[in-house]
Amino acid sequence: MRLTSAIALLALLALAGCPAPRAAPPATPSPRPDAPPAPPDAPPPPPGAPSAPAIAWTRVETAADLPGAPPAAGTWRIHLIDVGTGLAILVEGADFTLLYDAGTNDPDEKPARVLAYLGAALGPSGPAPGGGAAAAADPTCAATGAAAGARRRIDHVVLSHPHLDHASALDEVVHCYQVGTLWDAGRINHAVFYRDLLLTVAATTGTRYRTAAPPPADRTLTVKGVAVTIPPAVPWQSFSEGDEVALGAGARLTILHAEPKGHADPNGNSIVIAVDLGAARLLLTGDAESGPRADPSAPLGDVEQHLVERFAPQLDADILQVGHHGSKTSSRRAFLAAVTPSLALVSAGPRSYKGTRLPDPEVLAALEDVGATVLRTDLRDGACPLVERLGPGKGPGGCDSWLITVGAGAP
Ligand SMILES: [Zn+2]
Repeated sequence: MRLTSAIALLALLALAGCPAPRAAPPATPSPRPDAPPAPPDAPPPPPGAPSAPAIAWTRVETAADLPGAPPAAGTWRIHLIDVGTGLAILVEGADFTLLYDAGTNDPDEKPARVLAYLGAALGPSGPAPGGGAAAAADPTCAATGAAAGARRRIDHVVLSHPHLDHASALDEVVHCYQVGTLWDAGRINHAVFYRDLLLTVAATTGTRYRTAAPPPADRTLTVKGVAVTIPPAVPWQSFSEGDEVALGAGARLTILHAEPKGHADPNGNSIVIAVDLGAARLLLTGDAESGPRADPSAPLGDVEQHLVERFAPQLDADILQVGHHGSKTSSRRAFLAAVTPSLALVSAGPRSYKGTRLPDPEVLAALEDVGATVLRTDLRDGACPLVERLGPGKGPGGCDSWLITVGAGAP
């Protein structure tokens, strides 16, 4: 496991009389928990010694906290965007962008905070090339600052599964940005937000649509009583577990769970992907579960069991998006033992899930037990002190976003 490698490196450095390469900052609101820079004179590890990937993190409180340019080659950025009760993660390389989910259950997160964040991180983007009058007249894309913007590209957008807290803003993202490929399990949820997403895909040119379910011969899906036909101008292909996709130089994604069947709960359809960024790995799990709410020591089941049985080597990751917002439906100890993350990302907000506010303390304890530092988006939901947070000034989001830097240049 990578944890073992990291411990080995620390032991080597300690023997050499050197300080640890990066002290993990506390995940507390203040003082600002930026990781200190690595010692400039830290010697490289001996030839053949295992090396832990360089990972650092910092808060994003205003647009000024975001870099003004794409990351340098060989480095990557992961943005855990605070969208309130939901999930949105942006991954950036020098040569690609990937957005995993963009949704929230909080009504006060309108206009979509994630659009404001994307506008600040990637640049404003509107419905048509050139921006200008067409962009200015589009109230949706104005949230990105689109009045002065062009139409910008997001190479991959993944809808983990069709629940509102993961998808509420995705139709707006596809409308305002030029999405290269939209990944969707294809499990139909008869809800307005999912229908709106498919209608937007059908009206978009230049986007490829990929589903775990094979495309029907008539290219038509009926959602909430409306037949949506994906025109031939939108290429539509299926995908499967084990598929690998090159993202850019040194980066790729691997599909670890793809399930189109109509489970009673769409959480079981979560697309799980491993994203390799140089020597580091990010594991994105959506709301994948082991089963009913239970103590993390309970046996594996459902998607987590499938992942451990079929993809154990690929699960070994440095950064984990904690499943189902830190619910006890997920993150069984046996699953975490396979992942052994050093950093755990928990996206949660104040709205309850069937009466329970997440994350569950037992899951946070289990993450701590495997040595993970937890970054949370819900630390200041009740009383955000920021006056210039990205997006609306109301709502629980925008106060606890995190920027994680991966690669040789970190931090
Ligand atoms: Zn969810």
